[in-house]
Amino acid sequence: MAHEGHERILAVQDAPSGLRAWIAIHALDPQPAFGGIRILNYRSERDALFDGLRLSRIMTYKCALAGVRGSGAKTVVIANSILDRPAAIRALGRHIESLGGVYQTGPDAGFTREDQQVLMQETQSVAHFDVDGGMQSAGDATAEGAMHGILRALQLRSELQVDEITVAIQGLGEVGMSLAKRFLALGARVVAADVDKEKSAAAEKLGVSIVSSQQVLAANCDVLVPCAMGGIIHDVTIPQIQAKIIAGVANNTLGHKSHAQRLKENNIDFLPDFALNAGALIEGSHHFHTKETSCPDKIAAIGDTIEHVLMRSMNDNISTVDAAFAIAAEKVAGS
Ligand code: NAD
Repeated sequence: MAHEGHERILAVQDAPSGLRAWIAIHALDPQPAFGGIRILNYRSERDALFDGLRLSRIMTYKCALAGVRGSGAKTVVIANSILDRPAAIRALGRHIESLGGVYQTGPDAGFTREDQQVLMQETQSVAHFDVDGGMQSAGDATAEGAMHGILRALQLRSELQVDEITVAIQGLGEVGMSLAKRFLALGARVVAADVDKEKSAAAEKLGVSIVSSQQVLAANCDVLVPCAMGGIIHDVTIPQIQAKIIAGVANNTLGHKSHAQRLKENNIDFLPDFALNAGALIEGSHHFHTKETSCPDKIAAIGDTIEHVLMRSMNDNISTVDAAFAIAAEKVAGS
């Protein structure tokens, strides 16, 4: 396919429920293609498609970096056109099921646990799901992996001890809240922001200092963790950032790839999202291939990936994003 080599792009519609979505499958070799469902307000079908193409392509690189047998995909659902949410999710589930298992999905931003329950009534092709007493939630798995990556980056910057640092988190959703709890448990100070007042209040009760969404980016902190939407690190926000490490949890954290070079020049370690936020992908794909529900060692290996990326960036004097792409491309070529 013309756009970045995509193998399959499906337009999915269901008029009665108002479902309008794209399923973008970047590659089908190796199979299956893994990628979550993102449900967001989009200005147009074109914007949603662009997002799906971008995210599915990066999933192929994410699989390669994480050592996952599989390729990249993504579903993007236009939230603002939905008329009946459960019916729309069921219709989407039927479309995913009709693909015969070549695409294995899971949650992404805007996709709730209620959506997951409904989706699983229609399709078996859900690689990451919450099982009572079994698999942890995708948000927890992603947070666990991100924490390993951040801790390794802190170790490499030996001046930073975890119980002395301040972590600033933008977005206290599935991943952000889980990360806040983990860093509080390690003795770090956590400041955070969420546009949702209930989530902010819940975090405050745990000991998180709440600031505004703009203030959190400029917070006096050691580690900044964007956990809301992508594209948040850009020309306007970079000069405000005081953190020494930016942990890319939000997919496509940077406004543009070139911002990684700006961060390197400012002596800020940017941990690329497609290297750092692979915890749920690792756990979901492990379950898909083995039927086992937990793989803490594989998730912890994100720390090694982050070290590899940071060392390559330093040794080759390239940005961490270029380093991560180079490592991923080598892995794809070698597989
Ligand atoms: P979520 O929808 O559960 O949480 C996002 C949170 O960000 C919400 O609480 C929302 O209110 C808040 N938010 C939105 N705009 C904000 C703003 N301007 N300022 C402050 N808060 C704002 O999503 P999630 O599952 O926690 O995912 C967070 C990010 O991580 C997304 O970009 C997602 O693509 C990425 N990601 C998630 C996973 C996963 O397993 N859930 C895996 C990989 C990547």
